[in-house]
Amino acid sequence: MRRKVVAGNWKMNHTSATGADFAAGIAPKFQTSAEVVFCVPYTNLWCVKEAVKDYPIGIGAQNLHYEDSGAFTGEVSADMLLKMEAKYVIVGHSERRAYYNETDETVNKKLKKAVSKGLTPIVCVGEQLTQREQGITEDLLRMQVRIAYMDVDAETALATIIAYEPVWAIGTGKTATPDQAQQACACVREVFGVLYGTDAASKIRILYGGSVTGANAKDLFDMPDIDGGLVGGASLKTEFVDIVNAVK
Ligand code: PEP
Repeated sequence: MRRKVVAGNWKMNHTSATGADFAAGIAPKFQTSAEVVFCVPYTNLWCVKEAVKDYPIGIGAQNLHYEDSGAFTGEVSADMLLKMEAKYVIVGHSERRAYYNETDETVNKKLKKAVSKGLTPIVCVGEQLTQREQGITEDLLRMQVRIAYMDVDAETALATIIAYEPVWAIGTGKTATPDQAQQACACVREVFGVLYGTDAASKIRILYGGSVTGANAKDLFDMPDIDGGLVGGASLKTEFVDIVNAVK
């Protein structure tokens, strides 16, 4: 039985002070069996962790560098995240791919670094609207997963979480239908099974992300291959409580 995960991606929102207040305000309201994660800006990691320390909430970052240290101005390493007691890190979010040259190859390096240090990477894949319109969504997902998991053994692969996030649904209010999301997540699970076998495929957790709201979360999360959500905009509102609590 795969435990569901609901992760909020705060993106570049909240200072440490407003973030800690917000997190402390919603933390007592969760009533769920899901693993709840707040992926916050680097500068908020410590304050938010402190603010929710009495609750079973994991803290994550939104990126990391694949090297341990060095001349990488503005970057943050896995060890730095661990010192802030981060447990999760988003890797390969479409905004990082679009604006900061993240590629499937850098995703592969970051995934390996994160797991080797004991962080759980939430590895994002997903198609653009034009790719969906061209009918190549599944080809693209297979390629993204294969490159992300290149030279990654099964134990390492199972220490990750995958998030299927169609780019056209992120921050647009255009949610994939439960059937569209299910089909894509099933495809991701299938390619994971080709790489690691059916037992591993039955264990890997695959989230859906893209305009999840309090109103649509349950229908999405009830689909057989969807193990929860990665939530952007709505994770900044008290609506996030309804999304989390959609998992009984
Ligand atoms: C995201 O940023 O990962 C995301 C899914 O955003 P939104 O929920 O706002 O579409």
